Amino acid sequence: MERVYLDWNATSPVWPEAIEAVAECLREGWGNASSLHEEGRRAADRATLAREALADWTGSRALEWILTSGGTESIHAAILGAVAARPGKKRIVTSRGEHSCTMGVVAELEKKGWEVVRVGLGALGAWDPSEVLDAADPDRTAVVSLIWANNETGVVSPVRDLARELKARRIPLHLDAVQCFGRVPVDLSTIPVSMVSLSAHKFGAPKGVGALFVRQGTPWSRWMQGGNQERARRGGTVNVPGAAGMRAAIEKARTVDLERILYARDHLEKTVLARIPVCRVVGGGSERLPNTSCLCLPGCDSSTLLDRLDARGYAVASGSACTTGVSDPSHVLLAMGMSPEDAHATIRISMGHATNFDGMDDFVDVLEQEVASVRARAVSFL
Ligand code: PLP
Repeated sequence: MERVYLDWNATSPVWPEAIEAVAECLREGWGNASSLHEEGRRAADRATLAREALADWTGSRALEWILTSGGTESIHAAILGAVAARPGKKRIVTSRGEHSCTMGVVAELEKKGWEVVRVGLGALGAWDPSEVLDAADPDRTAVVSLIWANNETGVVSPVRDLARELKARRIPLHLDAVQCFGRVPVDLSTIPVSMVSLSAHKFGAPKGVGALFVRQGTPWSRWMQGGNQERARRGGTVNVPGAAGMRAAIEKARTVDLERILYARDHLEKTVLARIPVCRVVGGGSERLPNTSCLCLPGCDSSTLLDRLDARGYAVASGSACTTGVSDPSHVLLAMGMSPEDAHATIRISMGHATNFDGMDDFVDVLEQEVASVRARAVSFL
């Protein structure tokens, strides 16, 4: 049976060009990028090219990018680095819709005495910039850290004016943009954000590589001690093959036809809404990533549905991949005001450039059958 992968927000297949770039680097650029000899220089050159590709993609400068092991490390580095640089400020402003890695690092700081203000999500899935600004008191706030595009719903919250206002208040803003890269434009020349986190496996690079943007002049200090890599902003030998793969993936990601993905997603939602009774698009009506569809199917247990779709060749997700296996309802959906029952009945379909869009009507046929069957079984157990 041919598999159909519809879980691109969890991770994406690796571009063949990125696989080749990793292999080339392992053959020719395997040195330690910190070494002062030819082998080291070959590795360092490849790392430089990766930072330059990030800068060119985002309208920023190569020296503002720190190569990391992925989104989780970048987010830890951003938040811990910002609070360490502003010891007099003890407030952190964030939202209830963050990825679990942000929630984890912020909760640790809260235990250590920082005051954490978590703004809610509206029913359409975005946080409200005015609530963020109400909480962001310049005398007390060390950092504001917010998710830009939500991994579960695809909802993109409005950042531009907020970034300008926080800059005027001299409060550093960190955006978790992990789901944005390759899906919506990230132009750091027009959005005055202080820090941005990226994870390369979301746009076709291997896992275990990412980057943190720290705008020049941002009060920020390194969070990892030992080692002076990345201009003494990170400790640890740089994953140069991963960076080479990321550079190749960036080149490919820039060529993706996002309009085609958006068209396929909208067609999917239209068909699902027409054919499956009592179903709704979570965050529909908000600005959303073009590839993501979060569907609430009341009365249909999402983990049972997932297993059945998997058995029929389709990979979809419920909630975020990082919390799969945990049966608590998604905190993001609850923060939007959804009931735990509806949250348990919600699935996420996410697509990418290699999705076979012609096969999506077959997927809707299978989804319709399986939803009806899971709902019928739930009723017969009542
Ligand atoms: N932030 C968001 C919004 C994510 O979706 C993810 C991964 O799912 C992360 C952070 C963590 O990234 P990584 O898997 O590279 O650690």
